[in-house]
Amino acid sequence: MLFAHDTEVALAAAAALVNSVDVLDPTDEKLPDTAALAQFVQTWGWTGEVRGDEDELHEVWALRPQLRQIWLTEEDGVVEIINSLLLEAKALPQLVKHDQWHYHLHATPPAAPLATRMAVEAAMAMVDVVRAGELGRLRICESPTCDDVVVDLSKNRSKRFCDGSCGNRAAVAAYRARRSKAVTSSN
Ligand SMILES: [Zn+2]
Ligand SMILES: [Zn+2]
Repeated sequence: MLFAHDTEVALAAAAALVNSVDVLDPTDEKLPDTAALAQFVQTWGWTGEVRGDEDELHEVWALRPQLRQIWLTEEDGVVEIINSLLLEAKALPQLVKHDQWHYHLHATPPAAPLATRMAVEAAMAMVDVVRAGELGRLRICESPTCDDVVVDLSKNRSKRFCDGSCGNRAAVAAYRARRSKAVTSSN
């Protein structure tokens, strides 16, 4: 494992949040309403209070472009984003354990707004990435028709496509290319 378990979960969750809207086609919105957000929060295991109102949804929407900047910015800029997210939220790291999770960091109280908790969790995970000098693992999907963000936690730094359909599409294309080559050479 590259980072602590909670860091890796938080990185994946942050990427999923950023990718919940398609920047190339903003009508492709995976969090169109409060019900979709509630489902997303449950899927990714965010704990604490969810108000379920429109303001909360809009705060989460507003967080996505801020987090996306982390994937697009050089190290000093990333540090500025992280520090300001932590400062704005008055983040205070505490070790906690709950449900099936052993000790890990929470840096916001459970009653903090959902978007704040999401922001701080992502920022705390990015702290680990910056400290490890591993920002190179944050990439944009290499598919020409996709701008989704990618967190590459693979041993050999080989992840090039997002967790959406791009990886599968690339694998199928590579398989077809190999097969057609094999067919041609056997003729
Ligand atoms: Zn927790
Ligand atoms: Zn992609």
